[in-house]
Amino acid sequence: HSNPDYQQEPGRVRVAVRLRPRNIEDRSSDSDYADSVELQPELKRLKLRKNNWSSESYRFDEVFTETASQNRVYQVVAKPVVESVLNGYNGTVMAYGQTGTGKTYTVGSLGKDDPSERGIMVRALEDIISNTTPANDSVEVSYLQLYMESIQDLLAPEKTNIPISEDPKTGEVSLPGASVVRVKDLDHFLQLLQIGEANRHAANTKLNTESSRSHAILMVFIRRAVQENAVDEMISQEKASRADLSGRNSVPIVRRSKLLIVDLAGSERIDKSGSEGHLLEEAKFINLSLSSLGKCINALAENSPHIPTRDSKLTRLLRDSFGGSARTSLIITIGPSARHYAETTSTIMFGQRAM
Ligand code: ADP
Ligand code: MG
Repeated sequence: HSNPDYQQEPGRVRVAVRLRPRNIEDRSSDSDYADSVELQPELKRLKLRKNNWSSESYRFDEVFTETASQNRVYQVVAKPVVESVLNGYNGTVMAYGQTGTGKTYTVGSLGKDDPSERGIMVRALEDIISNTTPANDSVEVSYLQLYMESIQDLLAPEKTNIPISEDPKTGEVSLPGASVVRVKDLDHFLQLLQIGEANRHAANTKLNTESSRSHAILMVFIRRAVQENAVDEMISQEKASRADLSGRNSVPIVRRSKLLIVDLAGSERIDKSGSEGHLLEEAKFINLSLSSLGKCINALAENSPHIPTRDSKLTRLLRDSFGGSARTSLIITIGPSARHYAETTSTIMFGQRAM
């Protein structure tokens, strides 16, 4: 069940933090064995310890310990967004954090061997499929990779450099060049995700890069035919306002909404000083999209009338799906080890700036 303290009101970014369980690498040396993070989930608080003498506390909308299940994370972080998308609003769920802290596990896990391991993408589609009917509604997806300010279709990898288009009247963002696939059922969706994952892997091998350097973006388009009797609602719709009064109650309205689920590139600082050529360009671009996302999230948190979405492709893509009437949820992922204190701190600061 959704957490009542975690209501998904529009215009504000909800921020949860998730701690990855300790792994072998975290144990590899005694001095690094120390944890820098202590969670107080009942207080929704995280304590970050610099050393034995100094620590800081941070509050989040939700704090997930290393034992939190995929189901619980979905219910709290994503389900409220999915519900509002089913009700006609746009929404975004994003995972942000250092490489190796669990972004892909949280968002993109297919749970091939164990459905309880399924991540947010699969659970969201499961929910959307079970709450819609093929006769009245349509559920379609695009799956994209954004790498160095270039968008590639993960369902049709020959499509690269896909331009973003924006309707000047409605502000609606779309990718006319990307494939859009109507989802038949959950198995079909799992196949699509698997194809996307394989294409992402192949593309990155070819470019000799790691997937941690790119953003993976799932777009879910929902169209629902709503036989509304509520006149107010109908009048707000362009189609309905043009309809003949007598036929009002029988005019089907198509309500469209969009859900974006984003597995962001690793947030670790890339050392530009030692990078040259391609790697330097790459570092600049990743810093550009994540820092411009940070600026937009800041502006939202400050209720600024101007959200600077123009600066990067990532934020241009998100433009109509966060802020305004859209619902946005951010999950930041961290590891426990003191060795990553600096990166963990910067991840937590990113999350705090959104609140
Ligand atoms: P990222 O996408 O942030 O680089 P991954 O999702 O690939 O990180 O996670 C790194 C490793 O840690 C993977 O093997 C993943 O299965 C494991 N992992 C991450 N989070 C969890 C978790 N909450 N529970 C169990 N395993 C996890
Ligand atoms: Mg990943």
